[in-house]
Amino acid sequence: MDENHAKYMKRCYELAVSAGKKGHDTFGAVLVHDGEILEEAENTADYARRIFGHAEFNLVHKCADKYSDEILEHAVVYTSCAPCERCLAAIASLGVHRIVCGVSYKAFSRLLPFDDRAVDREGLLRQLGIRMTLTESVLEEEGMRVFEWWGGEYRPLEELIAEMDEVKKTVVNPIRGREDSMRKKLILISGSPCVGKTAVGTRLFESYDNSAYLDGDWCWCVHPFSVTDSRLRNGDRSMSFVLSNYLDTGFEYVFFTSVVLTDPIIRENILKGITAKDYETVAFTLTCSEETLKKRHDRRGDKGETNYYWLHLSPCPGDIVIDTDNRSIREVVREMKKEIDARTVHHD
Ligand SMILES: [Zn+2]
Repeated sequence: MDENHAKYMKRCYELAVSAGKKGHDTFGAVLVHDGEILEEAENTADYARRIFGHAEFNLVHKCADKYSDEILEHAVVYTSCAPCERCLAAIASLGVHRIVCGVSYKAFSRLLPFDDRAVDREGLLRQLGIRMTLTESVLEEEGMRVFEWWGGEYRPLEELIAEMDEVKKTVVNPIRGREDSMRKKLILISGSPCVGKTAVGTRLFESYDNSAYLDGDWCWCVHPFSVTDSRLRNGDRSMSFVLSNYLDTGFEYVFFTSVVLTDPIIRENILKGITAKDYETVAFTLTCSEETLKKRHDRRGDKGETNYYWLHLSPCPGDIVIDTDNRSIREVVREMKKEIDARTVHHD
């Protein structure tokens, strides 16, 4: 570890304890440039008066209008604990590109009523065009001890952590709860050709934010198409890949329509090929009468006779069967939406 890191961090800890002894929260921060501490600040939060008073925020205020961009862009903010989002934004707005933290976000969460959720803060800022390097866990053990002075009354760290562990058991974890209710969904829409999978699938998909759609036909578009072509099943791997890709890149609702889903073995193989983790599946089979299928077939202008083979296959076990006879696309979509939303668990 950089020896200087230790020097500046120890100063942050002194400031944090000083704030604690005054009855504030135990945080301190300093601005270092060219090996010299230019500015120091401690926490002055006052909950009764709703004064924010975070140490880093106070530090930014001291530095603004005082130091040139040239100095600030080469300066480093040292802080006793990983900064909250408001302070992070304030430091970024100051034009500083480097933050060194004593206590990491993860370690600090031991003193909070909810678990740490790893957030790629550097990456998020980069997306906004802001360059920032965050270094955590510098003299972390010593930094955790600083919290023993929280609010002006000394209490051993072990006691504080034990107390929070108890709270964590009894309160609903807001972060975990949110993640559960946001659990990604893979929605399968199965059924005979011409039954209306694409019509329903595209409208459903457009009715959700952060959703993605795959039509199985897109994954195997060859000429001439033949069900006896031994290469046909290679298309399933493409489907697994596209679905994994959507799920892995954070889409909450991934819709997939295909006639191959009517075959339980092919369906299972496609699902097995999905490498994405932590999603749940909601499966539908659309059905209708022979007359309706014939009507839809003719309306679509497909050549040849209507084939009822798929229509009469048993739906896969567990599928929600939706009868589309005499119903508009909108009505069918509404019913399916209800089923999907009913499977979204809310914890709050
Ligand atoms: Zn803050």
